[in-house]
Amino acid sequence: MSNIRNKELAPEGRKKIEWVRSFMAALSGIEKQFEETKPFKGLRIAVSVHLEAKTANLGLVLAKGGAEVYLTGCNPLSTQDDVAAAISEMGVETYGKYGVSAQEYEDLLSETLACHPHLIVDDGGDLINLLGGKCREYADCLIGGCEETTTGIHRLKAREKEGILPCPMMAVNDAKAKHYYDNKYGTGQSVWTAIMDTTNLIVAGKTVVVAGYGWCGKGTAMRAKGMGANVIVTEIDPFKALDATMDGFRIMPMDEAAKYGDIFVTVTGCKDVITEKHFRVMKDQAVLCNAGHFDCEVDVATLRKISVKAEERRKNIIGYTLEDGRTLNVLGEGRLVNLACGIGHPAEIMDMSFSVQALSLKWLVDHRDELITKVYNVPDSIDDEIGRYKLAAMGLSIDKLTPEQEAYLNGWTAE
Ligand code: NAD
Ligand code: SAH
Repeated sequence: MSNIRNKELAPEGRKKIEWVRSFMAALSGIEKQFEETKPFKGLRIAVSVHLEAKTANLGLVLAKGGAEVYLTGCNPLSTQDDVAAAISEMGVETYGKYGVSAQEYEDLLSETLACHPHLIVDDGGDLINLLGGKCREYADCLIGGCEETTTGIHRLKAREKEGILPCPMMAVNDAKAKHYYDNKYGTGQSVWTAIMDTTNLIVAGKTVVVAGYGWCGKGTAMRAKGMGANVIVTEIDPFKALDATMDGFRIMPMDEAAKYGDIFVTVTGCKDVITEKHFRVMKDQAVLCNAGHFDCEVDVATLRKISVKAEERRKNIIGYTLEDGRTLNVLGEGRLVNLACGIGHPAEIMDMSFSVQALSLKWLVDHRDELITKVYNVPDSIDDEIGRYKLAAMGLSIDKLTPEQEAYLNGWTAE
């Protein structure tokens, strides 16, 4: 039933999966718990997340919990054909091929949903869009689902407001165990790994412009500074701008920053952050990339139109030459640079994000009789459990409040 590119690639994919499994300790703890209790027995789970080794591990853990798992990607440029081949041999129905067209990508998602899932894991809202539209007929068994990322949750809340949410959804991104680590440290590291590997250029001494100083922006700016870059931040929120200033970054509008940057990274979830007026003033050989939701943060479509030449300069780099002879280099077609040009966040980070996914799916099943169609926050108890697993896995321990300290913190009488 699986729909993958080449099953011969499985041995390489298996090695990648085995490697990450050695570093995803919290998820391994949950896997043991699931193996004994089988919380998903008799249930089908459709997962649309970047189809690479850590996601494959999530698929295996859910399968150990008794689920029939149907796995697809959430971005055609991040799917790894060898991992898809391996996981499809390991008991997970897999629908994913690297580099497919937008139509083929949607077809793979639709094939995945044809299992009539009880639960879904979405990353950016593509499954929910299909279940609320073209694939409505496959939504008949849905208990609920989980959304992985910031923009996906914004979209779910917009649907909730309009009364068109197809099923109860958990805001996984908003859990502490997710965005504190994944968005900040995961993006902070994987964006720079991808930029450095793709360009083979030095970061030290360069002027880096980071658009957006949310969770992802903080990580991206912090790591650039750590490597010796001069970092400029652009923002639309006064307090985020103040945060950036107090963290030691220069703040200015993009209209100004455009002139100074050697490397630009957008992480806003917004559109038209870097547009034609910015291309017109950028330095020759500037590097442009995006790590936020979609390819509309940097207006690559317009850059393509106004350039006189577009050429692949290295793998995943298109150089656009303008009439005046300047060339602007766009990485990964303006899609998420850390996943289109790299392999995304490190294993120890996805360990936490996917632990939230696994326990949130179990929470949906445990509460299936009382759920209403709304966006749910992940309960604190799940965050706490993952925090404890993770500390133990890292060999760290912390203090515990005495009853007297607890009374002191919660009371109003003591000095
Ligand atoms: P966030 O809400 O914490 O931060 C976004 C920031 O961008 C905010 O501070 C906002 O004020 C600012 N902003 C919005 N529009 C802007 C504009 N036009 N110019 C400048 N600043 C602007 O969100 P986040 O968790 O940091 O996520 C940012 C984006 O990255 C989202 O689309 C999210 O889905 C995506 N994301 C990507 C990865 C990855 O692996 N690349 C990981 C997590 C999240
Ligand atoms: N559909 C969008 C998805 C946004 S991706 C797209 O066009 O690509 C942003 C999410 O990717 C983050 O919330 C993060 O949790 C996830 N991510 C980052 N690295 C990953 C990895 N190595 N494996 C799986 N997911 C990853």
